[in-house]
Amino acid sequence: MAGNVWVGVRTRRWAAMVLAVAAGAASEAALAADCPGHPDALGTSRTLVVDPKEHPLIGTMQYRETLPLEDGEVVLTFDDGPLPRNSNQILDILASQCVKATFFLVGRQAQANPEGVRKVRDAGHTVATHTQNHPSSMHRLPIDRAKQEIDDGIASVTAALGDDGAAPPPFFRIPGLARNDGIEEYAAAKGLQVWSADFLADDWRHVSSARVYDLAMQRLTANGKGILLLHDIQPRTVAALPRILQELKKRGYRIVHVVAATAEQPATPSEPQQWQLHPPSENVATSRWPKLPNFVFAETEMLAAPQLTESWWNDSAILAQSFGRARRGGRNVPLPREAPWPGQPEITLASADPTLPVPAPGVFEVAEGLRRAMQDFSSAARRAEQAAAIKAEAERPAKPTRAEARQTRRAAVASASRGKRTVAGRPVQQARSAARAGRTAAKPVISDKKNARRPGRHQEALLQPAPG
Ligand SMILES: [Zn+2]
Repeated sequence: MAGNVWVGVRTRRWAAMVLAVAAGAASEAALAADCPGHPDALGTSRTLVVDPKEHPLIGTMQYRETLPLEDGEVVLTFDDGPLPRNSNQILDILASQCVKATFFLVGRQAQANPEGVRKVRDAGHTVATHTQNHPSSMHRLPIDRAKQEIDDGIASVTAALGDDGAAPPPFFRIPGLARNDGIEEYAAAKGLQVWSADFLADDWRHVSSARVYDLAMQRLTANGKGILLLHDIQPRTVAALPRILQELKKRGYRIVHVVAATAEQPATPSEPQQWQLHPPSENVATSRWPKLPNFVFAETEMLAAPQLTESWWNDSAILAQSFGRARRGGRNVPLPREAPWPGQPEITLASADPTLPVPAPGVFEVAEGLRRAMQDFSSAARRAEQAAAIKAEAERPAKPTRAEARQTRRAAVASASRGKRTVAGRPVQQARSAARAGRTAAKPVISDKKNARRPGRHQEALLQPAPG
């Protein structure tokens, strides 16, 4: 069964890819015909017909649904026009690429520039509305004022179109995307589709046109498809748009033109999940799992807190009963409680081999490189030790000659006889022992406390050269 499902999924995917490739080839052919003089134009790959009443709120920045676009499909929208100088440039740029877009026009702008409204329509773009005065905080307006803004905006654009009173398509964008429930309910009651967006390019902020381009491409890349919100009244948008369109073409994105369904032109067939930007795939197991039920606690009564006052000593008494009497050390001082856990049982392995296997000779082998490094290290250490010893030997006082020793002995005897000490013989004794010392080795003579800090016998021994 699962295998059949997979085969089915794969088959559908292949069919979709084949259809997409065929559609792409067809649209390329159509573009070449539709955009004479611009063989490298981005073009408009298809027209999507939507029924506003079936999907009254679109744009994932604020709503659950968005237009049913394929991956790589982009819908361009321009707000706040018409403003002749900039809007006309936007129209020229779009014309040079044979790209169709949706314009959310402001009623007051339409009144001031009705010709601009007709230019948008005549260029084949979709005309939509954006309130009469573009209030900065639409969501804070009293609902009657908000309704009036919507109605007046439509009336002004209708008048500008001059099309025997025919209203523009029922697409509406709330200024600043400042929605509230009342606005959306009123729009739905009028059969309007409220357009939010899927991503922005921050072109109303004080940023460079390069930044607008960067944001548009970054956010499109992140979304993979969707509705891009731009402003045709902004010079930075005029500056950024050619590069955006070129890059869309270069990266293989496709422009979709959206129109409202009419009696003559029914909505493009679509599945409900296509109206989600990232519908859960049937291959993702979680999308088929049932929802977790919401648990509601019928009783919220608190449990009684434990009696802390009688915890330790009572436990001690119980444990003494269970595991023998509480232990007491010298002078009847209670010792810490014994652990209540039973001792570890001795585990005997019936099949255990009493002798361990002999390790393989390779275990003790030292890699050649490591052995050499160890040898080098030990010989270097030995050389350093020898050098230190030679240095120490060089610094040792030289052994006195026989004549020097004799002179030292005489000087010592003379010095002793001049001494003021009354203890008979002692200085002479010291001098004689000093003379003896001079004969054998150059040992320092410790004759009184003043010299007690001179190197002793042990320290001197350290200065002896190492054998070898
Ligand atoms: Zn606006």
